[in-house]
Amino acid sequence: MLRVGTKEKMPKKRLDYWKSPAILSFLRRAGETDPEAAVKVEANKLLLAANMVIAPFNPKKIAPLRKVTSIKYSDSASNSQLTPVKGGFIIAVKRAAGSRDVFSLAHEIGHTFFYDIEAATPIRLQRDIGSDAEEKLCDIFAAELLMPEKTFREDALTIFNNTGIWCETLFQLRSLYNVSMRAVTERVVELGILDGPVIIRWSWKSKLKDEKDIKLRVDWSVPLKDGKHYFVWPDKPASEDTAFMRASLRSGLIREEARLKLGALQGDFIIEAKGYHSKETDSNNRINSTPKSVLSIVWPKIGLQTKRDGN
Ligand SMILES: [Zn+2]
Repeated sequence: MLRVGTKEKMPKKRLDYWKSPAILSFLRRAGETDPEAAVKVEANKLLLAANMVIAPFNPKKIAPLRKVTSIKYSDSASNSQLTPVKGGFIIAVKRAAGSRDVFSLAHEIGHTFFYDIEAATPIRLQRDIGSDAEEKLCDIFAAELLMPEKTFREDALTIFNNTGIWCETLFQLRSLYNVSMRAVTERVVELGILDGPVIIRWSWKSKLKDEKDIKLRVDWSVPLKDGKHYFVWPDKPASEDTAFMRASLRSGLIREEARLKLGALQGDFIIEAKGYHSKETDSNNRINSTPKSVLSIVWPKIGLQTKRDGN
């Protein structure tokens, strides 16, 4: 299952956080001690074995290397799922718009490392029923498989050197790696490639399902540097005369200085914002006729006040 929690919601890693029986067994088999490093090593071994060196990295080509014999896509499934069968695994992927199902597939491949795959029908290591830590490791595995650190970092810097604009760089990385905007954003932040306060994706929606009050609202935000202070809550609406709103209604990139009062972001900022149509946010039959979603990056012009969002 794919977790898209923010850094704030991530459980604090206690000393025993990684000590599930399956993870310990996986580490013994891999001859490693650090679980995060170990799953990244496994991801890179698979890419090497599949002779995949440039983006996009398609997990469908990797799956057979982990004895995945069949991949099924479902619109109705509530979660993606890995099921052991005689001779390997079947993966059912919950179909999601905008390349998110690519991440789900990679995540499920990650779970195969917590099975004994030499058995006729793979069995869970130590009969472990799974844990939050294993879910987290599968996300780390998926990010490395789809956006391997070395290649991703080089591509990001090459694109930025060509465009000079981070917002544009994120769009190009998304296309190049065929992953969701959120996956690219989290990777850029995680690897410390981009520095500043926050990346925000906006879309036109109501606060609650079935509610009529549709506005340009925060869809998600990824805080750079310090998640505690620069988190912008979902569903907060954009004010009328802001770069975010204008980016949604016209084409092209907006880059400007502006005074903001947006949750924890209070003061003078430099904003990059660009509107785009996205399969993730536009309903299928209305794509290109609805107002655009917006990707924005917001940097402090000078020091940043760190008042917590009162929402
Ligand atoms: Zn999972």
